[in-house]
Parts: sequence; structure tokens; C-alpha cells
Amino acid sequence: MKTKILCRFLIAASVFACAAFLPFRADAFPGAGSKNRSPRYIAITFDDGPHEKMTPMLLEKLEELQVRASFFLVGTMAEKNPSLVRSIFEQGHTVANHSYFHRNCKVMDQDELSEDLARCSSVIENIINQPVRFFRPPGGNYTSETLRTVRKSGLKTVLWDINSRDYTGVSVDFMTRRVMRYASSGSIILFHSGVKRTVDVLPVLVAKLRKNGFVFVTLDEMFPRASLSNSQISSGRPVAQKGR
Ligand SMILES: [Zn+2]
Repeated sequence: MKTKILCRFLIAASVFACAAFLPFRADAFPGAGSKNRSPRYIAITFDDGPHEKMTPMLLEKLEELQVRASFFLVGTMAEKNPSLVRSIFEQGHTVANHSYFHRNCKVMDQDELSEDLARCSSVIENIINQPVRFFRPPGGNYTSETLRTVRKSGLKTVLWDINSRDYTGVSVDFMTRRVMRYASSGSIILFHSGVKRTVDVLPVLVAKLRKNGFVFVTLDEMFPRASLSNSQISSGRPVAQKGR
């Protein structure tokens, strides 16, 4: 899905780059930051798909590990695999919008983008009967106009602060070391749903993160509706940063 080229910049999932912009932590996770070794919350996200072969393997692995994650789905692919979309949702994962055509938002005019976002949300919502809340621009490419359009479409832009680089063919060991190096409470990890090694890295990574006190949450859990109104992410203005 062109992510090899497009995902050059890792962008903090809005607020994560700067401690000053972390309202969700206190709101969403009472006790976080106390001295009582509170759990550290972390979200695993998968872009693209659903893929006919890989997504069922991913779902099986997540079920086995008892991990709930979040899936940013491409509208055209969701349309082809409605039963997989339903399975993702029924397993308790957050299902989110990754655009209908997976085009670069930077080169789309705002009417086109608005139409594309609505089309993708509509495909997903018709399958799961739940409103879609989150959007991730393909390749993490966006402009300030993109963010305004996303916000007007009623969606929150959610990016990531840790890129596993799974789409580049790196090893399980590489991905594990990379994620463990940068993981902190509130981190959002970027994976892709069409990569076999992504399935392979999960048991290792989940065990290590759990050993280090991390608890896995979906984006719905990380950004509960009530906390969105006053947090920066609700304005859809993520803070861009040169990626890890
Ligand atoms: Zn993508």
C-alpha cells in the first residue's frame, strides 16, 4: 500500500510528543502517574486490510494473546471482506477509517477527501452498525487542510509515535527492540495487517510489554468519548514530529 515510501515521517499520535499535551492520560486512566505502579497503557494499531489471508491469522493471534487492538481499514478492502470487518469488531477491536482509496491526502482536494472519508466510514458502519470515530491518513501524509476536513467529517485523526517498520521486511528481533526502546505510557504502535512477521512478532512483544507493566487498550479505550471534547486530539490537530 505504498507505505514503504509514504511512512517516512513518524508522527506523534497528536499529543504524545509533548508532555504538555497529555490530557487524555489523566482523564482516561485514573491512577495513571500515581506512585502505585499504575499500569502503563499502550495501543497496538494495524493499518490497511482487511486481508483475506493475513487478517484471520492476526485475529487468531490476538485472541490467543487476549489483546485488543485497533484496525485502520481501507474502504475498498473492507467492501470486499465484510465478514472480516465483522470479525474484527466482534473480537472487541476498534475499527477505524484509513480512507476509501488509500490515496495520499496531501494531493487530494478537500471535497474529494471529504467524499472519500464518508465513503469509507459508510462501508464500515454498514457492516458493524457503529459509528466510526478515528481516521489515520495513508502513509501519515496530511496537511492542515486535511485535518480540518477530517474534523468536519466528525472523525479524530490518530497517528502513532512508534513505527514498527514491519512493512520494510525487518526481523522480529528488530521490531521487538525498536518498540521496547520507545514504548511509554500512551504510546501508539504502528503495524500493518498484511505482513506475516507482524503476526510473528506479537507473542514476543506482548510478553515483553506485559512484563514491563504495559496494558493493551483499543483506541476507543484510550480516547473515551467523554474525554475527547477538551483534548487536543478532538480538534484533529496532531503534532508532527520527525519519526522514530
Ligand atoms: Zn496504509
